[in-house]
Amino acid sequence: MALTRTNAFIIQSKRFRETSLFIIYYTLNFGKINAIAKGVIGTKKPPLFHLFPSYVELFLYRKESALSLVSSSDLLDPFPKLHQDLKKLSYSLYILELLKETIKENEKNSSLFWLLLKTFKLLEEAEEPNLIELVLVAFQLKFLKVLGYGPFLNNCVSCQEKIEKNLPSLRLSAKAGGVLCRRCSRDAGESLSIGYPLVALMNYLLDLKFSLLPRLKVPVNLRKELIKYVNYFRTYHLPVSQKSLELLKSIEENA
Ligand SMILES: [Zn+2]
Repeated sequence: MALTRTNAFIIQSKRFRETSLFIIYYTLNFGKINAIAKGVIGTKKPPLFHLFPSYVELFLYRKESALSLVSSSDLLDPFPKLHQDLKKLSYSLYILELLKETIKENEKNSSLFWLLLKTFKLLEEAEEPNLIELVLVAFQLKFLKVLGYGPFLNNCVSCQEKIEKNLPSLRLSAKAGGVLCRRCSRDAGESLSIGYPLVALMNYLLDLKFSLLPRLKVPVNLRKELIKYVNYFRTYHLPVSQKSLELLKSIEENA
């Protein structure tokens, strides 16, 4: 087994037997992996294995079919401001739960990796509560997109009619994967009525460079709708456990 290196986020770590840790990483080179760090508890090594989220350079002996073995881990960014602010920390933990529950192991996705890094950095720097909320919702949209779930918003997902400002009675269907025109939504089953401004905002966010997000001003009503619609779409494609939902609910109640 050869020693290999990769950059990684610590998704979760917990004690394993007497002195070891079981750690779930999201890595640049291998996607999500499970690993063991042996003999790290009770030594004088810095406790960086415990913290999540954090960003590390990882050296490990990798086994695809079993637990990989951590050789060493150097902290690249501990995201201190995420750990100092309860709201930011809750949002970060929610993102980590999403990864833990919805991403398959050993599937490399570098777009997702860089999206995570940008999201955590932006959450760190965000000062206004509104912006923190916007980062989470934009992350979820982009997360759905990099996993191939859409939402597809430029054209009606059924008949391909271009979605434009003057089209009446648009609906968002998670099952169909995006927006439906009035004609096509008749047989669509469960879907949500959606106004053009929200379709346009979602479309804009899907392609927006994350670094530009702090400049975006979204009216309160539209932001609340955005959160609701993105949650609806995400829940359909990436259902998460009760624990994660409770976490999200407590975040929203405290928002
Ligand atoms: Zn249509």
